[in-house]
Amino acid sequence: MISVETFAAGPLGCNCSIVLDSETKRAIVVDPGGDFERIAERLDAAGAAVEAIVHTHTHIDHVGATAAVQRKSGARACIHEGDRFLYDLLPVQAAMLGIEMPETVEMVGSLVDGTSIAAGAIEMGILHTPGHTPGSVTFVVKGDDGTMHVFTGDTLFRRGIGRTDLWGGDSATILRSLKERILTLPDDAVVIAGHGKNTTIGEEREGNPFLRGG
Ligand SMILES: [Zn+2]
Ligand SMILES: [Zn+2]
Repeated sequence: MISVETFAAGPLGCNCSIVLDSETKRAIVVDPGGDFERIAERLDAAGAAVEAIVHTHTHIDHVGATAAVQRKSGARACIHEGDRFLYDLLPVQAAMLGIEMPETVEMVGSLVDGTSIAAGAIEMGILHTPGHTPGSVTFVVKGDDGTMHVFTGDTLFRRGIGRTDLWGGDSATILRSLKERILTLPDDAVVIAGHGKNTTIGEEREGNPFLRGG
């Protein structure tokens, strides 16, 4: 069985998720934004063997505990190559947001549009959805009951969309990503956003004020 556990982590309450195949105990961690102890506790409680640490994008609040989770698990840490410059800019991001500079780690630029990452029975599809950042991606995981889990990072929130005024952000690009890549997913797909509450694709298609009008 594939389960998804999501909790807020790090200085800005980024949603960190543990996607687990409960049979093989293989897991993928999405956006370990901080609070390593809390993440480690949950991984240990689940007996999870982390195979990959993946990031919806490379803003500082989504990568704060990556190095620690990497050291604990030996898993590879992955980003979209389009966000590598943001990882190099971490000291600038830290200074701007007044957040302590996190420990860094080697990031593999292996999150490529149209490919997927496997761990046990988990198959996590990757959609390149730029706009919030140039290397923003959306992850899609099908649970065994057929439910689709969509990790949109800071591209789509419940009733909101991501800001585009930071390094490499672009408002026309984020709208195109939302309309062409994300809203084309099934209505009942569960959206796990980068911050805040879950929603569904259908709810956002109807009720998101930024996405109305075509
Ligand atoms: Zn962000
Ligand atoms: Zn964020």
